[in-house]
Amino acid sequence: MARVTPIQHYRNIGIVAHIDAGKTTTAERVLFFSGVSRRIGEVHNGAATMDWMQQEQERGISITAAATTCFWKGMFGQFPEHRINLIDTPGHVDFTIEVERSLRVLDGAVVVLCAVAGVQPQTETVWRQANKFSVPRLAFVNKLDRVGANFSAVVAQMRERLGAIPVPLQLPIGVEDEFRGVVDLLAMRALYWAGEGQGAVVVQGDIPAELLVESRLWREQLVEAAAEGDDTLTETYLQGGALAPDDIKRGIRARTLRGEIVPVLAGAALRNRGVQALLDAVIDYLPAPGDRAPVQAMQANGVVTSCLSRDDAPFTALAFKVTNDPTLGAITFFRVYSGVLVAGARVYNASQGRCEDIGRLVQMHANEPTDVGAVGAGDIAAAIGPTAITTGDTLCAPDHVVVLQAMQFPGPVISVAVEPKTTNEPSSSSAMSSAPLSPRGVAYNCPPMPKEVSSWPSK
Ligand code: GDP
Ligand code: MG
Repeated sequence: MARVTPIQHYRNIGIVAHIDAGKTTTAERVLFFSGVSRRIGEVHNGAATMDWMQQEQERGISITAAATTCFWKGMFGQFPEHRINLIDTPGHVDFTIEVERSLRVLDGAVVVLCAVAGVQPQTETVWRQANKFSVPRLAFVNKLDRVGANFSAVVAQMRERLGAIPVPLQLPIGVEDEFRGVVDLLAMRALYWAGEGQGAVVVQGDIPAELLVESRLWREQLVEAAAEGDDTLTETYLQGGALAPDDIKRGIRARTLRGEIVPVLAGAALRNRGVQALLDAVIDYLPAPGDRAPVQAMQANGVVTSCLSRDDAPFTALAFKVTNDPTLGAITFFRVYSGVLVAGARVYNASQGRCEDIGRLVQMHANEPTDVGAVGAGDIAAAIGPTAITTGDTLCAPDHVVVLQAMQFPGPVISVAVEPKTTNEPSSSSAMSSAPLSPRGVAYNCPPMPKEVSSWPSK
């Protein structure tokens, strides 16, 4: 499979928040600034009420889609094109299987906090869940335009109530009505937004004189945090050497990926402020699929293997959401951990012990499905068409059967075991007739259900 985007340029992320902190507004702006959605501007151009409602509806779908893809090259075009898959996390932030599943398939998270309300009960819940799955994260202190907004109070709350080590990358310039920019502590420059509304572009400027002292103090903390990134950085720092911006970035990235610190950014999504820099930080500090510890899977013989984020490994994926679209029908979203899947191929649903034909293979761009010929390691994709796949099922290459580690819930889905009478017999008679090509181009029949897949070694 020829990759359009190298896997190190993938970011599979989720936006999580206490209700009303601004998750939807932030996600909307991410889609707008990355060019997926061009509709917000039209709303402001006096479109008719019905149109507006329709657009709202369409936008709603795009945001509530299980996964939406956008591309980002940096607010100043400083990166090669990165692919950001924005994975929706369910609104119900509870100890439910739904939230845990979302956290399983994303590699990093943006936690949106309200600059007025600060750390709220659901923030604490998502935080604990993200800890459980060791999901590296960034914090976005939103609503800095609101009366009562207080950036440093929220940072202090992150420390006290979440037990986190927050490391601000920015300081707000002005607050409430006066919120007009941020100090970029890494580059020691100011970023302002020229113009109101959707057209807001980022312009660089000088740090206001009254913020210079405070900015230097916060920058020193940033440098100190970065110095613990690796031994070379520590040595340079302890010997009194200056850390260059790229060194600081490297150190902060390493520590964020290890879950030691949480970089913090500032903004007001509703006013289109701070979102471009947030996207830059997603690229700079959140992991590509290969930066995470490989996901574990169990083979039929009970041996546990790692699913490497590589296209040349056997295909392994997790179905994490099944939705029904009135026009398209059943849409099964899945995260590919290893290998390649080609459209029209047959996969083995190891959780149910049956084969599934993947008819249409698509990637969702906003609410539009785009047919793709193949997907590879790190991809979030969807299969359209009737299948018996349910949320939480492991999909794998029929000639390399594995079950992904079950989520720790009573009554795992993999307890549904259907075995053919003999190993020569496929689980479905029609499975034999077409004998399609496997993802690796070899004709195959369906293998039997792996035995004893429910006996994962307990942790
Ligand atoms: P969610 O529940 O986390 O998805 O929050 P929403 O994105 O739906 O936002 C909740 C409310 O806060 C809405 O009325 C938004 O318009 C408002 N809101 C979101 N971001 C901002 C912001 O940056 N500033 C202000 N003043 N309001 C905001
Ligand atoms: Mg919302």
